[in-house]
Amino acid sequence: MYLPNMISGKWTGTMNLTEPQAGSDLAAIRTRAEPQADGTYRIFGQKIFITYGEHDMAENIVHLVLARLPDAPEGVKGISLFVVPKYLVNADGSLGSRNDAYCVSIEHKMGIHASPTAVMAFGDDGGAVGTLVGRANEGLKYMFVMMNAARYAVGLEGLALSERAYQQALAYARERVQGRAIEGSAAAVAIVNHPDIRRMLMTMKAQIEAMRALSYSVAAAHDAANRHPDPEAKKRNQAFVDLMIPVVKGWLTETGNEVAYLGVQIHGGMGFLEETGAAQHMRDARITTIYEGTTGIQANDLIGRKLAREGGATLKAVVGLMQQTLAEVRRQEGAEFKAMGAALEKGIAAVTEAGTYIATQYGADVRAVAVGAVPFLKLMGIVSGGWMLARAALVAHGKIAAGDADPYFPAKIATARFYADHLLAQAPGLAQVVVHGGASALAVPEEMLG
Ligand SMILES: Cc1cc2nc3c(=O)[nH]c(=O)nc-3n(C[C@H](O)[C@H](O)[C@H](O)COP(=O)(O)OP(=O)(O)OC[C@H]3O[C@@H](n4cnc5c(N)ncnc54)[C@H](O)[C@@H]3O)c2cc1C
Repeated sequence: MYLPNMISGKWTGTMNLTEPQAGSDLAAIRTRAEPQADGTYRIFGQKIFITYGEHDMAENIVHLVLARLPDAPEGVKGISLFVVPKYLVNADGSLGSRNDAYCVSIEHKMGIHASPTAVMAFGDDGGAVGTLVGRANEGLKYMFVMMNAARYAVGLEGLALSERAYQQALAYARERVQGRAIEGSAAAVAIVNHPDIRRMLMTMKAQIEAMRALSYSVAAAHDAANRHPDPEAKKRNQAFVDLMIPVVKGWLTETGNEVAYLGVQIHGGMGFLEETGAAQHMRDARITTIYEGTTGIQANDLIGRKLAREGGATLKAVVGLMQQTLAEVRRQEGAEFKAMGAALEKGIAAVTEAGTYIATQYGADVRAVAVGAVPFLKLMGIVSGGWMLARAALVAHGKIAAGDADPYFPAKIATARFYADHLLAQAPGLAQVVVHGGASALAVPEEMLG
């Protein structure tokens, strides 16, 4: 009844999870669903922050709403999923009466102004008609099917914003003439010639290429997890996807913010003005580390459910793959591969040290370990990115050796080397924070925080 119109874009959909008291913690959801004699339910409650909760760009809006049945157990085990359309749908597929699901306010936000964010009231006028999806009390499990896809997609939002910010900053850096070259020049030069601008552009470019390669690898593993003929390969790929979803979501969005920040910096004062558009990327990027689960929530998922619960088994397997790439890098000659190999080796050692600490100490001192959750997520992102770029550099090297003269390939190797020198270099420091930073973050008593 709903899917063909939603897939064609005739109708749009929403996900209604968040309530004023239930943000990161969905166990606190209070929206009620009361069973009716005809098999439908009446939904009562308020949802906040609902993306595209109301608009007039489609003839119907299909809300997927999390709510509790009267006899539901406490916590996340008592949450069910309901379809609550804006207009009820008749048996023949035509639109019926207006449902009791209304937008009561649209939020004013710092970014993503093209995306309306609605406060939704369900059931103020007798109850919104809803239909149960699947089985009672399994709603969060179903919602997670969508949320895992959405988490990956929000990671891509970080990447996409980064790419736009980079293209704009690069164009501006080529155009803006300011100052002479630091080594001396007859005339003023375009700012792209200044070493600090070049460093910022390369930081943007290298991170974008690393993020893109990682997201493609996770997408390919997702396909293999669903379609591979060998059940063992399916399992292995699914484990990789499960481990990496919080990294793709958390690291690509945190890095997206850094890239958008550099984009503004490259524009100088013009970056602070709205008319250049550089500031918009920074404002738009800011939400990506918050919705679909904050970076803190992604990081807790990574260290708890994805790492400690299985004793670090998948991480060990991933480290094994990284080591295979490292061995291949080591077999190549030249300064680029030497630098890449040294940095990747330290990066792998940092992931191993921090991962082992988390897997072994999670049970004993979870508060101290959790202080390092976000630093560990960043460490995983940075080292995975370095691994991906090393793989790309190896392919590029093979192409050059086979006589391909496309300048894309030497640029790829140079970018991978830059990443090793400037970004992978952060890995040992992050491992240090994970392993030794827990106690001091918790040492100042709450009343002494200020
Ligand atoms: C523009 C926008 C669009 C949105 N779209 C939707 C939508 O379509 N549907 C929907 O249902 N929701 C939507 N949301 C809601 C969004 O998913 C939540 O804002 C988000 O999950 C965080 O919840 P919260 O705002 O209540 O923050 P809180 O949960 O109060 O978090 C505040 C801070 O505490 C931290 N924190 C909380 N709990 C923990 C913990 N256990 N461990 C460590 N740190 C923790 C967080 O990381 C964060 O830094 C949207 C929000 C915005 C702003």
